[in-house]
Amino acid sequence: VNTMASRPKSKRDYLSFSALSLYATCPLRYYFRYVACLSEETISASLVFGAALHAGVELHFRELLAGNAAPSLDALLYEFQMAWKSRSVPEVQFPAGENLDTFRRLAERMFRAFQASDFARPSGTIIGVEEELRGPISTGLPDLLARVDLLIDADDALVVTDFKTSRCRWSQDHVIEASRQLLLYHELAGQLGNGKPVKLEFAVLTKAKMPELVLHDVPADVDQLQRTKRIAERVWRAIESRHFYPSPSPLNCTACPYRRACLAWSG
Ligand code: SF4
Repeated sequence: VNTMASRPKSKRDYLSFSALSLYATCPLRYYFRYVACLSEETISASLVFGAALHAGVELHFRELLAGNAAPSLDALLYEFQMAWKSRSVPEVQFPAGENLDTFRRLAERMFRAFQASDFARPSGTIIGVEEELRGPISTGLPDLLARVDLLIDADDALVVTDFKTSRCRWSQDHVIEASRQLLLYHELAGQLGNGKPVKLEFAVLTKAKMPELVLHDVPADVDQLQRTKRIAERVWRAIESRHFYPSPSPLNCTACPYRRACLAWSG
């Protein structure tokens, strides 16, 4: 950790939205993950849960893409459990009173809500599931690498959907706050649409006693897109200049997998 100055610059020749967000959250955490490539010491149960839930939803759409029937609830739960087991970090931090069984029961309720939703039966043709798109978004920036959860060729638009799990329903402010990710994806998806407009949406499934899935349209706001690009350029410049420093806060640090490395960091 102390040899940061002597390490080579990050070899990544692309940007991802999650990397940009991580830098904005805590530059040192970005460094540990993407430059020093430290192994994570722990992982929060909610992160493992989100990824495993995602795996079940991905399986659903992959089967539809292949022309097969939608998988059963049992198949989704099996996929969930396999994804949970195959996580790369062994030590999972559970919140007080929670364990794998409570998370599994939550997954079952959420998959039921997902299967009952219109989102699970999209109109139009599925043309991509977890589709990787890569391309330039601004001069002076490396390519953006995007992993699009679902791409649908509908009658009037190419629909780009990002699937999220959330503790509670998203407000409109939350949608706008999160929209930067999809606005950047809009830039890449626009090249696939054969002239069709690109429609952006979030599919948000709540982690509740009675989960619900709500679709939120994201307006392709040109001003917001330009602002997002300027933010990405500034963040990239800071990364290239190796501005890595801790940004401690209870919100950032409680679930940080690099707390020990951070305490040992001396600049
Ligand atoms: S413990 Fe906090 S300050 Fe340190 S790297 Fe993690 S998030 Fe950043």
